[in-house]
Amino acid sequence: MQRFTILMYHMISQPGTIAEAKYACPPEQFEQHLHYLQSSHHCVVSLDEIEQHLLNDTALPDNAVAITLDDGFEDNYTQAFPLLQKYQMPASIFLATGLMGATNKWMQGRDFPERSMLNWQQINEMSRYQISFGAHTVNHAKLSELDTTAAEEEISQSKQQVEDQLGTPCSHFAYPYGLFTEQTPKIVKNAGFTLACSTRSGFNNSKRDPLLLHRIEVYGTDPVWKLKQKMTFGMNDAARLFPLKYYSKQVLQRVGL
Ligand SMILES: [Zn+2]
Repeated sequence: MQRFTILMYHMISQPGTIAEAKYACPPEQFEQHLHYLQSSHHCVVSLDEIEQHLLNDTALPDNAVAITLDDGFEDNYTQAFPLLQKYQMPASIFLATGLMGATNKWMQGRDFPERSMLNWQQINEMSRYQISFGAHTVNHAKLSELDTTAAEEEISQSKQQVEDQLGTPCSHFAYPYGLFTEQTPKIVKNAGFTLACSTRSGFNNSKRDPLLLHRIEVYGTDPVWKLKQKMTFGMNDAARLFPLKYYSKQVLQRVGL
């Protein structure tokens, strides 16, 4: 069965505070990541190709990996977009639609500096290239804390806003904070989304629920070796010695211990 990986980024900027370091990948490092994907013969695919694979059983290339960026920070346009174009790689950006043209209000007060979000003009421009846009609620909502009606509104209104602004269907969603209840994927499906990305770590294959896709979170602090390790083991927090432990466990299992 064909395995595919979805990477998750947030900001592509120098981190401004310690708290941001996990979420802000410096542009030079992001370029090293893209260069690694290219030179290691990974094939960067769009979420549309993954959708076709999961829903219509079309083939995916070997070593397929998708790049996603959550929230819709302005640096996705100023920093990530030129690099993605340079490497001719598609990506998907999940927009907290009510905050476009504004700032990252939902992060403030937790040692996160104010950051500009994308505006719709920048989003429109990128959409003419290989960048696609999914929804990430209107207000970066904690869906697990909302009642059904409020969750439905956050989910369906963000879809509507992307569609109104871009004039194309928006069929991909990402759960803010990775939070959802048992009911949330059903609400997402009923709103008309076909794919939804969680923050559960791991690989995917055609058996995975399209509304609960797993992703590998790439931290701003991850050098290429760490990205490589995460993509090898399908884990966000593989420690430096993890491969050694992993292999010794395999060996012990093989000898029956
Ligand atoms: Zn988010």
